[in-house]
Amino acid sequence: MAPKLCTRCQTAKAALKRPKTQEQVCRECFFTAFEEEVHQTIVQNKLFKHGERVAIAASGGKDSTVLAHIMTTLNARHGYGLDLFLLSIDEGITGYRDDSLETVKRNEQQYGIPLTVVSYKQLYGWTMDEIVAQIGTKNNCTFCGVFRRQALDRGAVLCAANKIATGHNADDVAETVLLNILRGDVPRLGRCASIITGEDSPLPRVKPFKYAYEKEIVLYAYYKKLDYFSTECIYAPFAARGFAREFIKDLEAARPLAIIDVIRSAEDFTFGPLAPPAPAGTAQQPSQPSQP
Ligand code: SF4
Repeated sequence: MAPKLCTRCQTAKAALKRPKTQEQVCRECFFTAFEEEVHQTIVQNKLFKHGERVAIAASGGKDSTVLAHIMTTLNARHGYGLDLFLLSIDEGITGYRDDSLETVKRNEQQYGIPLTVVSYKQLYGWTMDEIVAQIGTKNNCTFCGVFRRQALDRGAVLCAANKIATGHNADDVAETVLLNILRGDVPRLGRCASIITGEDSPLPRVKPFKYAYEKEIVLYAYYKKLDYFSTECIYAPFAARGFAREFIKDLEAARPLAIIDVIRSAEDFTFGPLAPPAPAGTAQQPSQPSQP
């Protein structure tokens, strides 16, 4: 039987099925499509201005590693004119953050962009390990998330950044939408799908991967052989988000565009009839008929 050809170039052998669009594509066409979709997300949503200094929030994990790689690539390819640097937060979690920071240090060399590390110890006088020793292992992410957010802001201000780019992907955004629905948190539901937050503040945050599927980020990192750290934080168990994550994965298995649809539901909720155009790489699907 003749090998299946890539549906895009029609010449190379198809190497994978895109999780987002279900297209059978070769590796090169996958890289091109993925990069182009992130570029379109950046351009259509005016995420950056020429000359801005941008902190890439870097944890050493797959999302931020792919983000650093793509931002460096697109900045050079399309002449964004951005001054990029990696900004890492050291929460002081032995066996997790110390190892992942080693990955970020290698990324600094691999992508040729400088790295700044800001630690909880330096900012707050406590490491997460010391906090957990005092308060126990419950609700650690609640404390750590607040500290981390503030630490990123403080680190970015120290480095005179104009913006922070984070690796939040489509799955993360859809999970947050779902959690806010489950909590009945209407004000957050209206905000959580925004691609830019703090737009009027001196330090907005942007999500270039808002429409990028987690599975495609993993495939991109795998095929590009990117150097990332995949161990979970030892304090990670986060019941509500874990449940939402599983639910989103089930929806995706039944209908791959469900992730985008959940995001668009929150966008429509926020923007009403002025919702932004459909994200790059997704065709508008007809609505399912409603159940009687
Ligand atoms: Fe902090 Fe929770 Fe993230 Fe671990 S998983 S670094 S405790 S926010």
